[in-house]
Amino acid sequence: TTSPQSLLVTGGAGFIGANFVHFWLAKYPQTHLVVLDALTYAGNRASLSKWQSVANFHFVKGDIRDQSLVESILLEHSIDTLVHFAAESHVDRSIPSPDAFIETNIIGTFSLLKAAKSVWLDRSTAHGLPLKKHRFHHVSTDEVYGSLAADEPAFTEQSTYAPNSPYAASKAASDHLVRAYQQTYGLQVSTSNCSNCYGPFQYPEKLIPLVITNILRNKPIPIFGDGQQIRDWLYVEDHIRAIELILKGRETGQRHNIGGENEWKNIDLVRYICNKMNHLFRVKPELAKAFPQALAAINNESEKLISHVHDRAGHDRRYAVSIDKSKQDFGYAPTETFDTGIQRTIEWYLENQSWWQPLLS
Ligand code: NAD
Repeated sequence: TTSPQSLLVTGGAGFIGANFVHFWLAKYPQTHLVVLDALTYAGNRASLSKWQSVANFHFVKGDIRDQSLVESILLEHSIDTLVHFAAESHVDRSIPSPDAFIETNIIGTFSLLKAAKSVWLDRSTAHGLPLKKHRFHHVSTDEVYGSLAADEPAFTEQSTYAPNSPYAASKAASDHLVRAYQQTYGLQVSTSNCSNCYGPFQYPEKLIPLVITNILRNKPIPIFGDGQQIRDWLYVEDHIRAIELILKGRETGQRHNIGGENEWKNIDLVRYICNKMNHLFRVKPELAKAFPQALAAINNESEKLISHVHDRAGHDRRYAVSIDKSKQDFGYAPTETFDTGIQRTIEWYLENQSWWQPLLS
């Protein structure tokens, strides 16, 4: 196995990207690591402030569609590995406003591929440099497979792509482009299709941080339709460990599903979090003082905050992925249980109000 020497992380100021940077620099402090992020509403420099003064960490504010900027970063920092997180990631936003999803997820990924090909293949051939030592890892979603019925087996890497939302369609398109760049030009690519992630630094529009921060602010918890939609939940660090395993593997040109083997109906998930919060406030009454506005949680009544709202268009009923191939190819298995993952996540939001409060006001 080989380890990246010089990494470019796109979207590193977003949720999963920031967790990746923290994980990577803590475990591999020698790695030269550059973050490229446009700092959209979902990007937050504060998520990376810990590394600000570390010499081998660099932050570049810029757009992945800027091919010449990306080429100059690849050259200047002798990047050998690119991990591509940057995206428009919120399905609900892709319904009224799909344009940004097409721009960033499709055109942006295409532009990155062109930059990588130009620097890693075309120019290095001209300079006689080895071609083998580069990697383009693309982070994608299980939503490219579409929706499952309750009794159907989970999606495998062989399942047909059938994206239902503009978000899922834009990710599916980018997956195909990434594949084509290996097939056509020999760019060394890998792709992971993961299920719903949760954990620290997630923008509070996404379900789990939305529920936590709404309980803390005593605000209604919106549930789409009947709340019977099923999602598989993956603790963000498990996802990152899987990417680490993929990057260390030599084989490229593959896609791997990364899941948590942890399916929940939305309504049950929300109830689980409500109970967990109520419990926390009971066993740690000092928290009640820190969050005096969390009245429902303090009074063991969080469930009263649940409010059913009109279901979103094209809402998939169930997503679930089989992780057999990832188990077989590189020994991947989720290590976090839902109970420990949720506990860690709730505690992070309790301790980092200064991170999420400004995003909500
Ligand atoms: P996020 O929305 O939290 O972060 C996205 C980041 O990309 C932000 O920092 C944003 O500023 C940046 N960005 C957006 N457009 C850009 C552009 N044009 N140029 C440069 N930077 C840009 O997303 P996330 O939840 O961390 O997701 C990361 C990746 O993982 C995405 O590709 C997403 O599709 C995929 N994914 C996420 C989940 C999940 O549960 N969050 C599940 C499956 C797949």
